[in-house]
Amino acid sequence: MKTKNVKAYGTPAPDAILSQMDIDRRSIQPKDVEIDILFCGVCHSDLHFARNDWGMTQYPVVPGHEIVGRVTNVGPGVSKYKVGDLVAVGCLVDSCKSCNNCKNDLEQYCPTWVATYGGPDKYLDTTTHGGYSESVVVTEDFVLSVPKNLDPAGVAPVLCAGITTWSPLRHWNVGKDSKVAVVGLGGLGHMAIKLADALGAHVTLFSRSPNKTQDALKLGADQVIISTDEQQMESVQNNFDVIIDTVPYAHDLNPYLNTLATNGTLVVVGYLGPLDPMLMTVPMIMGRKAVAGSLIGGIAETQELLDFCGKHNITSDIELIKMQDINTAYERMLKSDVHYRFVIDMASLK
Ligand code: NAP
Ligand code: ZN
Repeated sequence: MKTKNVKAYGTPAPDAILSQMDIDRRSIQPKDVEIDILFCGVCHSDLHFARNDWGMTQYPVVPGHEIVGRVTNVGPGVSKYKVGDLVAVGCLVDSCKSCNNCKNDLEQYCPTWVATYGGPDKYLDTTTHGGYSESVVVTEDFVLSVPKNLDPAGVAPVLCAGITTWSPLRHWNVGKDSKVAVVGLGGLGHMAIKLADALGAHVTLFSRSPNKTQDALKLGADQVIISTDEQQMESVQNNFDVIIDTVPYAHDLNPYLNTLATNGTLVVVGYLGPLDPMLMTVPMIMGRKAVAGSLIGGIAETQELLDFCGKHNITSDIELIKMQDINTAYERMLKSDVHYRFVIDMASLK
């Protein structure tokens, strides 16, 4: 297959820094859209993946799954997009389209979904490469439309941080009478607060960081509970319908389980791996409380979210960086020093 060589930023090994490299993009196929990348958000998953935290990374890896860009070319079979459109690509670039999950708009749970980076490329003999690059070629069914009224840089984080919190909020029917709590104020956490607030819920932030209180209130939280303060934790026992836990590393879920109301659900979206310490079943049994997980969202649900953001004028609070600043951004993300999502201005790579 013919390919086009483009500039990208990636890493050849778990202990190497990210640096400039060349990658191949496939030539346009009949249903393909070629996108000139304008902005790409920086997710904590990019860092986990670049450093092989999940033990599954194949190198080299070019991260980035919060992509906003302009259409520069379309295949003859493309009907939804034309040259010049402002579009987005999130965490998924393909799936089987025939399994039950695909038929139900849950492509993220398709056994053979293709991740935007690090997945098996269906066309080239490599893994897929993400949005830390000049351009990308994606089949039109996995390309999303960006509302015209929104700032394109601020939209980028909606594609992962937004949809990852939106999908559980919708699945667990969050609305006007809901009491929602969010654990951790980072990229996912700040979008969760904005979205739960826009859905009309009463929103609480659990944070280790007292210095984030004012920001959380401005983002739409009604209260902030400092998770290391036992008295504050005691004050919210048996309280929440849904908790969205965005913390990226192993931590004790038990104190949060106790703050769920009867029939409440704690949805883990942040940490992937075995729990430590173990879960205490007493509150689950005595209060029919549940612990669940959730993965990004399907294509239709992501478009629903983009349209919701357009209608409610919601974008991410971002710090715009140059591609060359990515290694510093990762170090700051590890210290939870992000207000509240880094977004790469891809003009810096061109
Ligand atoms: P982030 O911007 O780094 O935010 C994480 C927040 O968690 C921090 O700001 C911090 O908030 C809190 N935290 C608590 N303990 C921490 C610790 N030991 N180290 C660092 N932070 C800690 O990360 P993100 O981009 O929101 O991503 C969060 C997690 O979600 C990552 O693990 C990512 O891989 C995962 N993720 C999952 C999905 C999915 O589909 N399920 C999708 C995207 C990302 P406070 O200072 O307020 O405590
Ligand atoms: Zn992500």
